[in-house]
Amino acid sequence: MTKPLVAVLSGAGISTDSGIPDYRGPGGVWRKDPEAEKLVTYEYYMGDPEIRRRSWRMRRATGTLRAEPNAAHRAVTELERSGVPVRVITQNVDGLHQAAGMPARKVLELHGSARSVVCTRCHARGPMEDALARVDAGEDDPPCLECGGVLKPATVMFGERLDPVVLGDALAISKACQVFIAVGTSLQVHPAAGLAGVAVDHGARLVIVNAEPTPYDSIADEIVRERIGTALPGLLRRLSAGGAR
Ligand code: ZN
Repeated sequence: MTKPLVAVLSGAGISTDSGIPDYRGPGGVWRKDPEAEKLVTYEYYMGDPEIRRRSWRMRRATGTLRAEPNAAHRAVTELERSGVPVRVITQNVDGLHQAAGMPARKVLELHGSARSVVCTRCHARGPMEDALARVDAGEDDPPCLECGGVLKPATVMFGERLDPVVLGDALAISKACQVFIAVGTSLQVHPAAGLAGVAVDHGARLVIVNAEPTPYDSIADEIVRERIGTALPGLLRRLSAGGAR
């Protein structure tokens, strides 16, 4: 028997147990504070060195790089290791699926990664850790070491487009999967939210694991409201045991 392809769309809720707040969701930290939102808005970031200096200071303070994956991230990896084909599509930039052992090529990061930096001029990439070390050493707005251009986190800022290649891959997986699990996402931010609808249109079973209702609850086959850290491991164990349908 061929095991069903499982797509896991993860949002901020999967990482709250790792101590990472919801920054960019509709009710997220950035949306509620216009001054904080400027730090992650492309136009302000590029146009104002003071915004960049504050942005680097904020990145040093938040400690995203020190966060550890939790039971929910590990459960997704266990499902993959059990032999079920799994693809993760994540709205998170924390890299915690990979930190939990998911192969990087099986994780699509819709909003990029906070673990890397990218040059806005020559597109050279490097580890965020190195850039933050330069900030620690006194560079308050570290430029690209290759060309001197403005360096930014490799995340999709407000005002930037999602990577069309990543989005295309996410769409293809949503169409091809037999099970689509949306976990810890309010399914209110497009185009990520629309992937749930695409999956259902192509015959997938939709499972929603989220504390709050979502706009897709009415077309879901299963809705789980319990805490993600306890609910997801149980749900995925059932899947790997062959209880997908
Ligand atoms: Zn450069």
